[in-house]
Amino acid sequence: MAECKFCESLESHKQCENFWLEREKEPFKYEYTVALVVKQWLPSIGKKRAGRTTDYRNQGLGYKLNFCPECGKEIKK
Ligand SMILES: [Zn+2]
Repeated sequence: MAECKFCESLESHKQCENFWLEREKEPFKYEYTVALVVKQWLPSIGKKRAGRTTDYRNQGLGYKLNFCPECGKEIKK
């Protein structure tokens, strides 16, 4: 049972991965990485978001997902 929503989401992706792994001769390979999500807004319009940027740095490869960014649990490969 997942402890937080991020772990729950990751677990559902891994279940999907395992579903195809058991059924396909050549299943898709999955890789889980980290991206930085930046939320922006102007104070003059309150907390309403004026924009949102997803930043895939590291030449589009992302970063290793070693720990859950929500609860801190170590992510097993
Ligand atoms: Zn977590």
